[in-house]
Amino acid sequence: MATGQGKRVVVIGAGIIGASLAYHLARKGANVTVLEADGIASGVTSRSFAWINTAAPETDPIAPLRGAAIEAYRQLEAELPGLTVRWTGALSYSTMSSAAPTPASDSSAADRVCRTQIVGLEPNLKHPPESACHAPAEGALDPVAAAHALIAAAQAHGAKVFTQTRVLGLVIEQAQLSAVATAMSIIDADSVVIAAGTGITQLTDSLAITLPIAASPAILIRYKTQPDLVRSLISSPVMEVRHTADGALLAAEDYLDDAADNQPAAIALRTAKAIQHELHGVVSIEPEWARVGLRPMPADGVPIIGHLPNVGGVYVCAVHPGVTLAAIVGRLASEEIIDGKASPALAPCRPDRFWKR
Ligand SMILES: Cc1cc2nc3c(=O)[nH]c(=O)nc-3n(C[C@H](O)[C@H](O)[C@H](O)COP(=O)(O)OP(=O)(O)OC[C@H]3O[C@@H](n4cnc5c(N)ncnc54)[C@H](O)[C@@H]3O)c2cc1C
Repeated sequence: MATGQGKRVVVIGAGIIGASLAYHLARKGANVTVLEADGIASGVTSRSFAWINTAAPETDPIAPLRGAAIEAYRQLEAELPGLTVRWTGALSYSTMSSAAPTPASDSSAADRVCRTQIVGLEPNLKHPPESACHAPAEGALDPVAAAHALIAAAQAHGAKVFTQTRVLGLVIEQAQLSAVATAMSIIDADSVVIAAGTGITQLTDSLAITLPIAASPAILIRYKTQPDLVRSLISSPVMEVRHTADGALLAAEDYLDDAADNQPAAIALRTAKAIQHELHGVVSIEPEWARVGLRPMPADGVPIIGHLPNVGGVYVCAVHPGVTLAAIVGRLASEEIIDGKASPALAPCRPDRFWKR
């Protein structure tokens, strides 16, 4: 079996996580093959609000990962001309009178800002709260373009990429991965990285390993409206919005239930009204589309990253929030897979925590 550089690694899934893994692994000299059932970034990555959000709850096992997320993206931007983050900053508040989450690190450097400062930052807010949390270092990206840029860079480092190629199973010999099976071929491999989003459990179930990962729905809406309604990214109890580079307005909403008046199109109309109520300057706001995305959500909310126990060569990456953490997880996981260098920041994410309890 090859080790280190030249190791044959198959990455299953070309969402933002698989794309980042493929790039980081190929850059380290691995012999990478990416197998994607559909197209690049065709899964939940294409429905992501894509906020690089480093704010964390007070006790957060993955605070070091969130804390390193911004710097990891800045490094990727320097390495890949096709990957661009709009570092607009983010303004969050949970009620009209209090501020929101704790910043994760010095790099997120979120400040508590008062109403006067909020109005300076976002002059179109009709109902600015008393205070809010302002993270000037945060931003958002086009996740589909980012995944394409990562895959193209992986290919430039020699990776082979096959779309429309679903992985049907893993070949295990004497408790060690030996190959990956698709409908068309068997691909010999030293390691496999399962970065298949909500498709992960189908593959791990076939190894008789049950990972508690739910498919958690959320809604992304794209509106045609006036440009520059918001300058940064606003997350409030009423709306979560930001502009795209081409001037559209994106909104992220919770998926409520299957009722007719909670379908994406209906939510898009309700959210448009809420945005009009919150912002000055909205002359018209037309939903272009509203789509449901299924997030791979581990039962305890902590990403599942690492080698599976009892079977050699199988590494899993189920990451939420996946866009925020893609750059840093790609870097650290590739070091674990190629250099055998265990990352302390990934220690709380190990799959075997579900069997140790
Ligand atoms: C409305 C909404 C807003 C969001 N906002 C944010 C945000 O602001 N910030 C943030 O960090 N995250 C956000 N997320 C979450 C984020 O989008 C996901 O965490 C992230 O995209 C997951 O990426 P992934 O690569 O793991 O999964 P995916 O993008 O789903 O990629 C998995 C890929 O694997 C492929 N696949 C599956 N099974 C197989 C198989 N057997 N063989 C081959 N290929 C297979 C699929 O086709 C798919 O392309 C949001 C999600 C939604 C829905």
